[in-house]
Amino acid sequence: MLVVRAIEASFKLSSMTRLSTSCRLGLIPGPKLNVLLSEYVITRSALKAQVEGLEGITTVQAGTRLRFSRNPFGPRVCPGSVHLEMAPSGEGLKYLRLWREACWSIPPKNAVFCPKHFNSRYGRYIRFVFGSTPPDPLNPFFRLPTLLYSIYYGPGYATLKVGTTLILKGLRRFLEQPTYLAALLRLCRNVEEARALETWLSRSSRRFSQAPSMRSRVAGIAARLCGEDLATEAGRFACALLNAVSEAAARRGGPAEVAEVLAGIRRCVRVITFSLEALPRPVRMCGSIKDAGELLGGREAVFLGIASGFLDLDVEGVGRVLVPYEFFRDRLVGAELL
Ligand SMILES: [Zn+2]
Repeated sequence: MLVVRAIEASFKLSSMTRLSTSCRLGLIPGPKLNVLLSEYVITRSALKAQVEGLEGITTVQAGTRLRFSRNPFGPRVCPGSVHLEMAPSGEGLKYLRLWREACWSIPPKNAVFCPKHFNSRYGRYIRFVFGSTPPDPLNPFFRLPTLLYSIYYGPGYATLKVGTTLILKGLRRFLEQPTYLAALLRLCRNVEEARALETWLSRSSRRFSQAPSMRSRVAGIAARLCGEDLATEAGRFACALLNAVSEAAARRGGPAEVAEVLAGIRRCVRVITFSLEALPRPVRMCGSIKDAGELLGGREAVFLGIASGFLDLDVEGVGRVLVPYEFFRDRLVGAELL
């Protein structure tokens, strides 16, 4: 048994391209937008997981062989806790220490956390992000700069995701979820400001969603693997963002920072992506946990690393398969490390 908790990754910038795109508004030629497209290559990736029989958190390196049980995907497990210590140090810099506490408890029905971790500082932070608890300004998780971002899933998919992530996680957030292209919209003072913007944008524009369906996100990445032109898609994404944020900014009563997000887009849209060049084509992808369970059940596989939002597995008798990281995260998985 194991429970995957986090991704560890190193990456480097492989290219940076400046583009200019004109956005059409119906039949009328619209404004020109500047786009800065940065592509990153993953140089090393591993999983942080609880492994049955081992204490604490284990690093599962690329190249590790796994044997999956017949029905590998079990119930969700309490996320445990993440401890964050923060102290000022020198010229306004902060000393940060972060460590993870393991937990094997299955939470009560409709709950994410077990009773022990429900009211931890991390628990209160996560519950705030899901919208069920008020902010907690003394909690260190509420005092970190937080990034507001958007994700584009490809030309056939009109919805853009809007989301937030603590700056500590940074670009690694785009390795945890299927990401075709991501735009960095604003670095907010804290999660409270970022969440207020995220909620306003997703409610005020039909194009934004906080949680698009996994099936459509996987389909978007599959389309990208077919070799669409990233520069063209980055231009489409920038125009879709301009339209969506303009729609939200035109509505009264939102946070003042919405206007600043819009101004930022008009100056330059900063788009990032992770290279998928290293993947074979075609590659099999799983869009549902049921498909993934049937494919992996009873087989051995080698974990090859993390591709944008997926575990890259070489499955015996099947070949290369991409399984969304989200199917593994915080879930009891019947697999042993060989
Ligand atoms: Zn727990």
